[in-house]
Amino acid sequence: MTIETKLQQFKEVSEKISAYSLALTTLNWDSSTIAPKKGAAYRNKMAALLAGELFSIENSPEFIALIDDLFTETLDDVTMREIRQIKRNLDKSRYIPKDVFVEYAQLTRDAENVWETARDNHDYEAFKPYLKKLIEMTKKVVSYRKDTRPVYHQLIDDFEIGITIEDYDVFFNKLKAEIVPFLHKIIDKKITEPAWLSRNVPIEQQREVVEILMDYLNYDKGSGYIGESAHPFSSHFSVHDNRVTVRYHEDMFTSSIFALIHEVGHATYNGQVDEAYQGRAIADSMTYGMHESQSRLYENMLGRSRSFWSGIYPKVQQTVDALHDVSLDDFIQGINHVACSLIRIEADELTYPLHIMVRYEIEQGLFNGTLDVEGLDQVWSDKYEEYLGIRPPHNGLGILQDIHWSGGAFGYFPTYALGSAYSAQWMNAMRKDLDVEKCLENNDFKSVNDWLKNHIHRHGGVYKPNELLLAVTGETFNPQYYVDYLKEKYSRLFDVSE
Ligand SMILES: [Zn+2]
Repeated sequence: MTIETKLQQFKEVSEKISAYSLALTTLNWDSSTIAPKKGAAYRNKMAALLAGELFSIENSPEFIALIDDLFTETLDDVTMREIRQIKRNLDKSRYIPKDVFVEYAQLTRDAENVWETARDNHDYEAFKPYLKKLIEMTKKVVSYRKDTRPVYHQLIDDFEIGITIEDYDVFFNKLKAEIVPFLHKIIDKKITEPAWLSRNVPIEQQREVVEILMDYLNYDKGSGYIGESAHPFSSHFSVHDNRVTVRYHEDMFTSSIFALIHEVGHATYNGQVDEAYQGRAIADSMTYGMHESQSRLYENMLGRSRSFWSGIYPKVQQTVDALHDVSLDDFIQGINHVACSLIRIEADELTYPLHIMVRYEIEQGLFNGTLDVEGLDQVWSDKYEEYLGIRPPHNGLGILQDIHWSGGAFGYFPTYALGSAYSAQWMNAMRKDLDVEKCLENNDFKSVNDWLKNHIHRHGGVYKPNELLLAVTGETFNPQYYVDYLKEKYSRLFDVSE
């Protein structure tokens, strides 16, 4: 077979995979937004059928042989990287015996059900045996790979290619040494949350604010859509179709604002990928950390800054009755309020990474044998007390708060903090080319989007995070930018020393 024929075959299979993925994404979007509940059983059954077909295509002996073959060929740089990515993923799954795979899938399904009830009953003991089994099974599944690194190192690499445990250790140790004591200086000031944050804002007014923001962020309705769902998310269908959802809370209106900005950050990333990559794996194979770096750059670095709001705030204030007596400065102070809370997803920007740090330290301990599931709920609570100065009243708000472990997602969590840290490094680089504050004040969000497109977005998932960081910022991941950013911003806001 000539190389042209092989590449043609590869293109055809890639498009077929993309077609199935598009169908599944559409079903997913539909069921999370507008689909009626009673149709769920049939929809899920059909979706599982499609997912099974997709799995068969991706793991067919012919496709695997084609990838192994192309891996040895000399190809253009982008295609070579794409083949390497696909092969890397295949190498993780191809040696796992089917019965082990099925057992693991069954375990995660059971564990999710058990976790849900355990969380509602605050009952760690009920979840404990499942957690133990999940860790054992994860080790077993990973053991079939031809990779000799310790299990947790491999898991970390699965979720963020090229980032190592050593990188995370440096990162989290820096947070522990610099951000934990800094946070306690702010907490000691005992600043109460501004009352206007929980004022009632009718959903109609919140929808109008969303319109103002969409305009401002240059989120094109011609290639996007805003839906509603229990938990906000974004969905990528193609370069010209990237949708987001929000959820409106009448007594917590800033929640919908920042969820929207966050999700539009994700959508803009996918929407600015080079059109030539459409229908290929690399169009959407960005890492979790990379994707989160774009959404959190939007949400926090830009969205919670004064210059972001200075131009549009008068319009927002006119729209939202509850803001009639809230000045721009008060608004900025309020949206950056810091409080030590128990739940990660509700955390402010400053305390957010500390929630991740707790779980990272525990995961690391579970996999290197220094921690065991026995008494782990107490370890969790102790760490919250140490870092955040607050102890969960029960395990439902403590160790059982997140679904991730029950799905076997170990090593995933640290990427949440990593994304925020990358975004500080991107901002630093962007500032060298662009007067970001001036652009925002002049209602020129397009220049920001253009910079992101040219330096980051257009590449899709072609490069590993460290490769792109090095090319754009001149160095690989350096957590100092994030620590400096947090300290500079919050010392200014709360008048405390760095
Ligand atoms: Zn996100």
